[in-house]
Amino acid sequence: MLFKILYKDDFRTLIETAMKSVEVVAPKKVGSNARGKPIHHYLPVTSFEEIDLSYETTEYSAKTYFIPYLENLANYRFGDEDWEKEIQYRFEPRMILGLHACDISGLLRLDKVLIHDKFPSPYYIARRKNTLIVGIDHEPCEGGFCHALGTNVVSHGFDLFLTDLGDRYFTAIDSDRGYILLNKVLTHDVKEKDTKDYLDARRRISDAYTTHVNVHNLPNLLDIEFESDVWKKWGAKCLSCGSCAQVCPTCYCYGVSERVSMDWASGAKVKQLYSCNLVDFAQVAGGHNFRPEATTRLKYRYYHQHRGFVEIYDEPKCVGCNRCGRTCLAGINPPDIIGELQAEVRK
Ligand code: SF4
Ligand code: SF4
Repeated sequence: MLFKILYKDDFRTLIETAMKSVEVVAPKKVGSNARGKPIHHYLPVTSFEEIDLSYETTEYSAKTYFIPYLENLANYRFGDEDWEKEIQYRFEPRMILGLHACDISGLLRLDKVLIHDKFPSPYYIARRKNTLIVGIDHEPCEGGFCHALGTNVVSHGFDLFLTDLGDRYFTAIDSDRGYILLNKVLTHDVKEKDTKDYLDARRRISDAYTTHVNVHNLPNLLDIEFESDVWKKWGAKCLSCGSCAQVCPTCYCYGVSERVSMDWASGAKVKQLYSCNLVDFAQVAGGHNFRPEATTRLKYRYYHQHRGFVEIYDEPKCVGCNRCGRTCLAGINPPDIIGELQAEVRK
């Protein structure tokens, strides 16, 4: 890994230069919640003033820029004698600025499934390749437990990664294009004082976590506690709304449908993100639903996050952002559920 020092004036020049040639998406304040806390979304920005890099978290993850909620996989046009199909894999270059380490870790999880596994998605690959990622370190967000899962730091999956040292950024470079981008402005070699300030900043962030989740031996624990009353308790609260999967940076389940225009002149094959908590997620041809209860669907989601994914990809799918916990109207959240399962085996 290569490190450079980037002063904030030069960083601003860098971003304003980038805005002239690519779409820049960054955290932007869009309002406040009932407790007066700012609400941020990752949105396209056209001026530096719109960007708020001191944001705590976003309601939605940035996955929407890689696997949108609705996506036309193919468009069709029907003629008298024939038909034409159009498939679009090319996407305009984009920069996503200000991603936190857990969200970059989320993209690395998606890469495992959508790039490196048996059925790679050309749509996802095109977006990933055409998106420059500039990440940034941050103070822990409410209920976040990324440090328990080791996703509070990243060593790859980005082009540049910034740690705020007051008047300057300690900047990690992880790609050729990150290096080329940084060369457009003045940077400085890292001095001993910069390294010390960086390590102090990392230590301060690491010490600031207040949510502690014990994930030790969790895949085995989940097998042992498969019939636990913990699932009944939390499953009874679940409204089966699917919001948790929509905000999750690593949930990628989807359905595909054919949509044909009223005049039969055109159509589209449309992919729509789905959630394993929705009532009909496990409904198959003939109408049989093999997970009809909210309890089993909720349990399935946790088993995919913390057990099934580990079996295939050697790490949990969950990156500990707690967006699902914050968004759930029923108060269902991973720290409480995992904590109660751990307590069960200590009884
Ligand atoms: S866990 Fe919460 S957010 Fe997820 S489906 Fe159930 S009620 Fe909705
Ligand atoms: S399951 Fe919840 S805490 Fe884990 S990555 Fe998804 S939204 Fe974040």
